[in-house]
Amino acid sequence: MNFMSLARDCIFCRIIRGELPSTKVYEDDKVVVFLDIYPINTGHALVVPKVHAEKLEDLPEEYLERLLVVTAKVAPAIVKAVKAEAYNVVINNGRAAGQEIMHVHAHIIPRMTGDGCNIMGCRRFKPSREELERVGEEIRKVLKGEK
Ligand code: 5GP
Ligand code: ZN
Repeated sequence: MNFMSLARDCIFCRIIRGELPSTKVYEDDKVVVFLDIYPINTGHALVVPKVHAEKLEDLPEEYLERLLVVTAKVAPAIVKAVKAEAYNVVINNGRAAGQEIMHVHAHIIPRMTGDGCNIMGCRRFKPSREELERVGEEIRKVLKGEK
């Protein structure tokens, strides 16, 4: 792999280079999966691309694809290994969304019925149909490059 694409002081880049220890459970030429040192549940793992990119949208497409393919392969193995029932895949993108390590990564969080964990724990509200349409139209305009 190309070590030039890694950042010198990033914790995850340092783990990828082998300068810091980690408990790796999977590795290929584009991603590595290692266990989170502060897990939400046993088996909580991080799928990390082997290129330093801060956010999902900064990742080259082949890394983006591999991230999802490997997540779908490793997550059920984790669930089986730790005798969980299900899992959440979470990507915190940007500091306001809870991203602390600014090297994009997907969390695989094994889940059990009644484990008390509330991943999508924010309070919700109920917009009107008109409000949903207004927001939808704004998003479609941005996607079309009109805004
Ligand atoms: P974020 O909040 O950026 O989505 O998640 C960063 C995750 O990395 C956290 O869950 C945190 O526990 C984990 N973490 C932080 N430092 C290290 C480390 O040095 N090694 C490992 N394996 N995980 C780390
Ligand atoms: Zn990095």
